[in-house]
Amino acid sequence: MNSLKPVRPLGAQEPFDVLLLLVSCIAIGILAGLLAAGIGQFIWLIILFPIGMGFAVGMGATVVIKARKVRAPLIAMLCAGLGGLVAYSMDLTLDYVRTRAAVGGNLEEYAVTLKTDTGIQATDAAVSEAVDFLFDAWGAQREEPEVDAQMAAILIGEPITVGELPEQAPPPPVGTAAAVEGFVRMRINAGTSIGNAGSDGAPIGPIGTMILWFVELSFTVGFAAFAARAEASEPACGTCKNWYSEEVAATVLGAEPTKAAAGAALERGDVAALVEGLPVPDDQKRFAALMARHCPVCESAPVYVEANLLFLGPKGTESKTLKRGFIEPALYTQIVVAANASYPQPEVALEQG
Ligand SMILES: [Zn+2]
Repeated sequence: MNSLKPVRPLGAQEPFDVLLLLVSCIAIGILAGLLAAGIGQFIWLIILFPIGMGFAVGMGATVVIKARKVRAPLIAMLCAGLGGLVAYSMDLTLDYVRTRAAVGGNLEEYAVTLKTDTGIQATDAAVSEAVDFLFDAWGAQREEPEVDAQMAAILIGEPITVGELPEQAPPPPVGTAAAVEGFVRMRINAGTSIGNAGSDGAPIGPIGTMILWFVELSFTVGFAAFAARAEASEPACGTCKNWYSEEVAATVLGAEPTKAAAGAALERGDVAALVEGLPVPDDQKRFAALMARHCPVCESAPVYVEANLLFLGPKGTESKTLKRGFIEPALYTQIVVAANASYPQPEVALEQG
């Protein structure tokens, strides 16, 4: 029989909480994206800025998940990932809006000339449609003179003859989606450059730009999503719905610090195997420990435990989880009593980190 019960997320408390989480993640994504894009006018630290944005969205998501008890790892990942996507695309979005405004302004000036020539005043809708058309054409790298003549035809809404070209009829509207796609293609085709601040940097072409964007986006979305998932997967009590206490009680075990030994013994609820080998010699650098957390309310609630490998790393004591799950309080007590009998436990209470 398996003594170790898996941690099953309880799901969200109320549907409204999911909406709140989604809105919060997007709002933080917008703010983080605006901040990064603002600083990015002067300097953009590749990879680091995207990680920072992902971190900001992930931390915001964590706060909402904790406060609203959203125990749905997948939903948490989706909301935070979406927030990350919004954050990372903010720079591109702002550039799109700015470029549209600039091109639209130029077309309005051109419309004045057109009115003098044809007597037809371009409407605002026609100007917007002409901008869509240009973005789509530029994205496809169409630079032939017909493009400008067709753009003029769109503005006046009638066939027009420009220069030596045959008469051009207004082409059908391409739509905003095609305009956005065209703009993104333009940005990719223009490429970018990476290098030290203050230098011109090494240009990377369209392929390099796409790879850089993809890697950066993965960092932003990944950091946000995984922080949110970790928080939503924290142990919670099925009875009273509270999160488990963050206070961790550690018990040094005698079993080999491996999945096959300590992990399997915990799964079997094999107390003798868990404490076998205690006391741990003072100079042993790798050993197993049982980390336990409790429901702050229900005494009879299962105990959340992790069988961890503890080892002395370059940054002090490090830990790696071998197995995690819930065990019955009686079994937990047996393990602690048995461990104490063969090895008086040092008083360790570690904060969750
Ligand atoms: Zn409880």
